[in-house]
Amino acid sequence: MKLKCPICGKECREEEHGYRCVSNHFFDKSREGYVNLLRKQKKKEYGDSVAQVDARRAFFLKDFYAPLKTAVTQVLKDYEVKHAVDAGCGEGYYTNFFKEEIPELDLLGVDISKEAVRLASRHSKAQYAVCGVDALPVFDHSLDAVLNLFAPIAEKEYLRTLKEDGIVIYVQVGKDHLLQLKEELYETVYRNEINYLSDQFVLKEERNVGFEIDVKQEDLWNLFQMTPYYFHTPLSAKEHLKEVKELRIHCEFVIQIYRIANM
Ligand SMILES: [Zn+2]
Repeated sequence: MKLKCPICGKECREEEHGYRCVSNHFFDKSREGYVNLLRKQKKKEYGDSVAQVDARRAFFLKDFYAPLKTAVTQVLKDYEVKHAVDAGCGEGYYTNFFKEEIPELDLLGVDISKEAVRLASRHSKAQYAVCGVDALPVFDHSLDAVLNLFAPIAEKEYLRTLKEDGIVIYVQVGKDHLLQLKEELYETVYRNEINYLSDQFVLKEERNVGFEIDVKQEDLWNLFQMTPYYFHTPLSAKEHLKEVKELRIHCEFVIQIYRIANM
């Protein structure tokens, strides 16, 4: 995919060690092949912590969420998506799968966490860049799809980058996702709320993906660290979770597919 210079907005061309725009702004390409478009990055200020990224990676290695990545791949196929950005790609668990399943897909993964992008781009054929989801390095109306899997929403940027008939594929957890894990942690369990994009977008379709996973102790702890509950759980409940040997957990996701509303 052609990259847009985040400073002057002109096209960046790939060179041996990086990308250079016609105004001579230069961005390093890493050994792994991703490009860092953030001029300055203070360590640990952006994105997820290294511990979180590691936990998620360890959990993803076991492929517990395989049904979700298959379901999203099917959406890309059904809508004949050719050019897409995975906005907030994390360590590329989903992104890399999409690219493997649909090799001809022109796919750019972006994330603000350099560590996550570094992991994502190792042994991957997808293109990767370190940058924010609100400053995608692509040209106006050039994309068939923007993917958002559990990432911050940046509607303005979706409107700018999508073609007129482009889609947003917005994936979030379903109402009863990880219900049994929450029951281990809390007295009262609340169901998750489903979010919707604003009326600048029209919801065309919603696909639900549900399945059960059997999670053993170590993976359970990794899974727990991936969730927002990790930061809001009392110590006693955390200690209790460490004692749980195995848990059958319900997983539930919602895939929403939007088009841009006609103004
Ligand atoms: Zn430039």
